[in-house]
Amino acid sequence: MGVLQQAGKILVLNAGSSSLKFKLFSLAPGLVAGVGGMIDRIGDTVNSNLVAKGNGNKWTEKVPIKDHVAAMECIMGFLSDKESSSIHKEVQAVGHRIVHGLDIHQAALLDDNVIQKLHQAATLAPLHNPPGLQGLAAAMKVFQGVPQVGVFDTAFHQSMPPKAFMYGIPYDYYTQHKIRRYGFHGTSHKYLVETAASMLGKRPQQTNAITCHLGNGSSITAVKNGLSVDTTMGLTPLEGLVMGTRSGDMDPAVPLHLMSTLGLSAKEMDTILNKKSGLLGVCGHNDLRAIIDNKAAGDERAALALDMFVYRVRKYIGAYAAALSGRVDALVFSAGIGENSSIIRGLICEDMQAMGVSINDAKNKATVGGAQGDISAPDSRMRVLVVPTDEELSIAQQTLDMVSKVKSKVAVAA
Ligand code: AMP
Repeated sequence: MGVLQQAGKILVLNAGSSSLKFKLFSLAPGLVAGVGGMIDRIGDTVNSNLVAKGNGNKWTEKVPIKDHVAAMECIMGFLSDKESSSIHKEVQAVGHRIVHGLDIHQAALLDDNVIQKLHQAATLAPLHNPPGLQGLAAAMKVFQGVPQVGVFDTAFHQSMPPKAFMYGIPYDYYTQHKIRRYGFHGTSHKYLVETAASMLGKRPQQTNAITCHLGNGSSITAVKNGLSVDTTMGLTPLEGLVMGTRSGDMDPAVPLHLMSTLGLSAKEMDTILNKKSGLLGVCGHNDLRAIIDNKAAGDERAALALDMFVYRVRKYIGAYAAALSGRVDALVFSAGIGENSSIIRGLICEDMQAMGVSINDAKNKATVGGAQGDISAPDSRMRVLVVPTDEELSIAQQTLDMVSKVKSKVAVAA
């Protein structure tokens, strides 16, 4: 930290195919969040918008944006107007959220070698990695000579042992085609276990936890001594829980059967499993708020979808308690559902005393809308924690750590 300028800033970027999210952090000397927002509809020069908030203000501006470079330039113009006129000089590193990092196990400087690897990974994450690389190219053009750091959704799960990450298929598919379980949401799970450890007054290396990131995309991770030892997502984010629009686990014969009997192509089946399945496929809605309301109004499919969601989460909590030999310090809830729905948390933890999980109803109801807290009953063996995830802060922190490490090495060598 001492090797970076105190007035410096870290810019975090998260590029999608038609969007670029950003958040600025100041070194004060800890990381302090400043203005953040996004440009959406990149490529649609009539309808693209910049939406941002920070420092007590909110902005929405129509901006004609033809590509990611134009989006990056627009963001810098906006930040130099709203945050600091010398922003170009103040940004000391850019942290990029990259979905698939193959076997990269921690944040990395995005040099030619790493970039080449990410292009290889694009075949495994065709929807996610190409936009991340476009965002990187745009940032490299705007910030020449500024370190660019990649923070990968897969990195935290690289500590999984082979028994957890291998699929039971011919071994050559692993060696020749890199087919294995990678896991996703790693930046969030890492943040959750670090925050949970500090809430328990422990170091992450002493903490065993089951972290539940439950949002439109959902995953659960088993964490042993601060490291991921298993997680519900696999080669892609399709495996595991029943999600908003993704199927989660199923007999692999199901898509094969549907493809052969209905004449569906691989691309069509992929769209069905990723975009038309999960809660949406079962009951016509992917937002659990609507599903809870519809169940209350007597909708049986909504009741079924809700039951399936909760049951799959409970099943994995049980599986991961076994993976951790029953030694679990904390069960952590996060993301849109985990942070906001006391109803779903209550259903997941219902009648789980024999598993060591018991929550306090009043604390559960009170800990919503971005609140952090311990909702366990006094007799609960596992502490049950609600932790609002903050992936941008985690990306900024990992970027800062990486750049500080590199600068210290250079200073020592000099
Ligand atoms: P995320 O992907 O983390 O942004 O989470 C988005 C999802 O959180 C939405 O699709 C909803 O299903 C869910 N969600 C947000 N607020 C609530 C709530 N109060 N009750 C139930 N689900 C919620």
